[in-house]
Amino acid sequence: MTDMAEKADHKLCREDFTPGPASYSEVYPGLYLGNLSAATDIEWLREAKIDYILTVDSCPIPRQIPELLPNLTIKYIQITDMPREDLLTHFGISYEFINHALESNSRILVHCYLGVSRSATLVIAYLMKKYRKSYCDTFEIVREKRPMIGPNRGFVAQLKLYEDMDFEIDSTSIRFKMYRLQIAADKVRKAKILPQDCMDLVRPDPALATVRPEPTVYRCKKCRRIVASASNILPHAPREKQIWRHISTKRTSKQSKAVHEPLELPKKDEHEPVEFCTKILFVEPMAWMPDITHNVEGKLNCPKCSAKLGSFSWIAGNQCPCGSKIAPAFYLVPSKVDWSNAVQNVQVTV
Ligand SMILES: [Zn+2]
Ligand SMILES: [Zn+2]
Repeated sequence: MTDMAEKADHKLCREDFTPGPASYSEVYPGLYLGNLSAATDIEWLREAKIDYILTVDSCPIPRQIPELLPNLTIKYIQITDMPREDLLTHFGISYEFINHALESNSRILVHCYLGVSRSATLVIAYLMKKYRKSYCDTFEIVREKRPMIGPNRGFVAQLKLYEDMDFEIDSTSIRFKMYRLQIAADKVRKAKILPQDCMDLVRPDPALATVRPEPTVYRCKKCRRIVASASNILPHAPREKQIWRHISTKRTSKQSKAVHEPLELPKKDEHEPVEFCTKILFVEPMAWMPDITHNVEGKLNCPKCSAKLGSFSWIAGNQCPCGSKIAPAFYLVPSKVDWSNAVQNVQVTV
């Protein structure tokens, strides 16, 4: 059903699928995974003594349910079953909710429309963190209890990223940054501007960093203005396709270390050499790039001397000469910038 829903993304809507009769599975003691019909089956909810319902769907459950069951605690996460929906940033909230229910010896139903993709993703994320198990192992454990589960491919990638981040959101992770940029790019595609809830992706101007300035910075070659700090760099390996999906755990941890090194000197490991491409310098969006919040693509000029330093493209992204296709892309051309290791890099000029 998930595959079918994905293939038919653009043609079919929610009403074209029926959730069918109440369907639920106790996948862990006290933790039920089910469909919308289960969440609206008053008789069953009473019988099974469900006191908590976590809804992850495009609509909340009907008002009458909590009215008829006054002891019920409900939580609603509004998400459609699309691979590019961001469920990952809700994993923390859903973990707390499920954990609270189970620790108070209550029974909880986690449900979406069909009980196949979204709700299964949240239950898997919960069990992964609780038992510090891999996605694959946890998926099998849940599937044993509910054979029809099938998180969509975007959610599978999010669960794997969650595993790589050690079951916490790590906002310094390169993959998490790329993940969020891709979610934002989807919104830019629809709205043509960067929505307010994504504005935190635009990092502060490194030239104005007065608190703990980073030792390694990149400057405009012409006027020396700081245009990026080491932590703003989004390194990529040659022929990388989608940074946040394809880099393995091992390489990610090395990469986050290597990001503090200038790219001209990629960090190498005797056992497993990691080579970063230095043909193009992909960076995070930064506050000195004024056009990026209301344009889909454009040039990046030095804010001080106006020299052209690079370009950005939210949707098409950029193809690096190494073969990597990075989207969205905010990039500086290495020949236009210099890196320096000066300690006194606090610069007041804007
Ligand atoms: Zn300049
Ligand atoms: Zn490259």
